[in-house]
Amino acid sequence: MLDICLLGTGGMMPLPGRWLTAMMARCNGSNLLIDCGEGTQIAIKEKGWNFKPIDVICFTHYHADHISGLPGLLLTMGNAERKEPLLLAGPKGLERVVSALRMIAPELPFPIIYKEYTEKEEEFCVGPYRIKAFRVNHNVTCYGYKVCIDRIGKFDVQKALSLGLPKQLWGVLQKGNNVTFEGKDYTPSMVLGENRKGLKVVYTTDTRPLQVISKEATEADLFICEGMYGESDKLAKAKEYKHMTFYEAALLAKEANPERMWLTHYSPSLMYPENYMEGIRKVFPRAWAAKDGQSLELKFDDEK
Ligand SMILES: [Zn+2]
Ligand SMILES: [Zn+2]
Repeated sequence: MLDICLLGTGGMMPLPGRWLTAMMARCNGSNLLIDCGEGTQIAIKEKGWNFKPIDVICFTHYHADHISGLPGLLLTMGNAERKEPLLLAGPKGLERVVSALRMIAPELPFPIIYKEYTEKEEEFCVGPYRIKAFRVNHNVTCYGYKVCIDRIGKFDVQKALSLGLPKQLWGVLQKGNNVTFEGKDYTPSMVLGENRKGLKVVYTTDTRPLQVISKEATEADLFICEGMYGESDKLAKAKEYKHMTFYEAALLAKEANPERMWLTHYSPSLMYPENYMEGIRKVFPRAWAAKDGQSLELKFDDEK
């Protein structure tokens, strides 16, 4: 099971009642955060979710509305006496940016590990999460994210029995680890059926529309996409500042056909995003103008 919360829906600056865009995921006691603008830690508190199990924070890019909340969050995590290492991942320059921000949060009781992307696409795993960062098109280097929870095949008792392996070792294989017994190696594939469909969430902001976005979001359970401007006549502005209109985001969703799309990262001038949705749903019916704190519990097909 995977819980997703869109902590905020604002772009550029937080407003009363609208925090900056950030996403938190919870799965098997491990939390993942994408982006951390000013006020993100308050948004987490408001939602009632916990900072302590955050194992990784991924950044799309280093504009202030996506990272300026980090020093405060790190201090709060330190105050909660966190000892476990924290992974920070983001485009090249991450350690330099975070080191500068940490001038005001120098002493933390836990180590920070950095992962900086150098390639157009990078994939890595943290706890239950398989994370893919892919470069998008903003006015600074920026990445979108695909977060997957894989689902291994069902345990096949007949297969396991035919191997003659002691039952105490079945669990090891079931968890996806190899086993050596009486000099022979056993792999999980020997006792598991075909991989089952996992869960997929895609998060992209700030960017112009790109083919790679619809490719990664194809058949996703949830596609969170920026929509800086509700008004289609703001296309020139969207192009200039490297953002998207709702309409452009809906076209991406139409191509990707996810289970649902949430729009986010609204311009501070966009007070009522919902007002634009009627036309947008004609392009992609399962589109939502997301609200702060909107969350969703995603389940594997065989858990529904
Ligand atoms: Zn932004
Ligand atoms: Zn930006």
